[in-house]
Amino acid sequence: MKLSDEIIPNEVMTTAPRVNLSRREIICGLAAGTVVPIVTSGCSTNPETGRSQFLLVGEGQIAQMASSAWTEMKQQTPQSSNSALTRRVNGVWDRIAQGAGKASEQWEVAVFDTEDVNAFVMPGNKVGVYRGITELTENDDQLASVLGHEVGHVTGRHAAERYSMQIAGQIALVAGAVAVSQSETLKKYGNEIGALGGVALQFGVLLPYSRAHELEADKLGVDYMNSSGFKVAEAPRLWDLMAAKSSGQRSPEFMSTHPDPQRRASELRSYINAMGYDIV
Ligand SMILES: [Zn+2]
Repeated sequence: MKLSDEIIPNEVMTTAPRVNLSRREIICGLAAGTVVPIVTSGCSTNPETGRSQFLLVGEGQIAQMASSAWTEMKQQTPQSSNSALTRRVNGVWDRIAQGAGKASEQWEVAVFDTEDVNAFVMPGNKVGVYRGITELTENDDQLASVLGHEVGHVTGRHAAERYSMQIAGQIALVAGAVAVSQSETLKKYGNEIGALGGVALQFGVLLPYSRAHELEADKLGVDYMNSSGFKVAEAPRLWDLMAAKSSGQRSPEFMSTHPDPQRRASELRSYINAMGYDIV
């Protein structure tokens, strides 16, 4: 997901989700309390996950922003003319979308004809799958785990949430800069504080936050695999394959935005066991 998931949308994962989710709750709490009036109405509950989310923009607005990126992507990347492959991807997609209760929505699924071991979803229900990742998968269940993960980003409203966090982060940086500029003592350290603010924003808030999204998308993906009749045990197996491939010469592109495959595999196994979907 060089472009794609990283554009505005989603990607990346690893750390303990608890910390990240509670951090977000803190942000919601702070926002509702004081900081900036426009932020006040930002928190809502996601019906799919039951999780409180901080959203300053709707999915529709995000979709508009992403639409030119999607068009550009399709112009620049060759699409597969292998009808067996596109049939396979669309067939798995239809089942997963059904399992996620999203089949009635308008979706556009493109199969790109490159070696990239990658897939992504963009706001506006645009799904991109590269030939490379379809060749890595050993069966349709593993492909379903990739596509289920991508749907999970949509139902989790990750694009709008991430974008909202970025806006809030900018507001916080500006607020911090104003505070520094008004304090004589702090003024001479202004640059250092400003730099620290940027680093803290990137590593303290945004990065772990997107990791939490990855974990959430993984779990939602497994839920959808289960409700679509796919073998959920193949989801952690796919991450095992990713891990094996990443130890080779060329690590899959999917890994740059979805690191730590072994940890994801074990998190997924715990989840599958805990949900009683299977014993893995
Ligand atoms: Zn992802």
